[in-house]
Amino acid sequence: MLNIILFGPPGSGKGTQSEKLIAQYGLKHLSTGDLLRSEIAAQTPLGIEAKAIMDKGHLVPDEVVIGMISSALEANPTANGFLFDGFPRTEAQSIALDGLLELKNTEIALVLSLEVSEEELVKRLLQRGLTSGRSDDTNENVIRARIVEYHKKTSVVADYYKKFDKVKNIKGEGTVDEIFNALSEEVNKFSL
Ligand code: ADP
Repeated sequence: MLNIILFGPPGSGKGTQSEKLIAQYGLKHLSTGDLLRSEIAAQTPLGIEAKAIMDKGHLVPDEVVIGMISSALEANPTANGFLFDGFPRTEAQSIALDGLLELKNTEIALVLSLEVSEEELVKRLLQRGLTSGRSDDTNENVIRARIVEYHKKTSVVADYYKKFDKVKNIKGEGTVDEIFNALSEEVNKFSL
């Protein structure tokens, strides 16, 4: 099994690169943002509660996203491996993920961290907001709040995995293919 975390601030290109990585390596894509947006679309109680939080640019509670990931892992017992996108976002989520993977006798092999400047992030997210239908991409204050939340809570996730020497920093600016090649170079060091 090959389990990878694609890590980086909002707008760093995790969604775009995830699509290419899962196609190339046959991994199952687990995006907590996508899972939450499908709860919102289905108007479940969880979705309704999550939308109010997401529209402020804050993080939804750890137990909610950990529960969603735990169910998704159980729903995919035969996967070759998982690509985690937008998860874990806090140290508590990292510790929970390590525990869930340990139950499956596996672990995170690699954390790929995309690095993009703040002004480029804001520009990309406002651009995405024109077509994505995502309410959290249309307001610059919400975008900046998500970046603040990232620095306050999520950047510790990289520190957590650095302790285990699992983090590779990748420049997230350049063409989609250049970035994908840099990511692939790291993934290719692991065999499936
Ligand atoms: P982006 O990385 O572009 O901000 P995502 O689609 O990953 O977008 O997430 C959108 C929103 O969903 C986040 O701003 C947050 O409110 C919520 N969210 C997604 N994943 C998590 C998570 N692991 N923990 C807490 N909240 C999350």
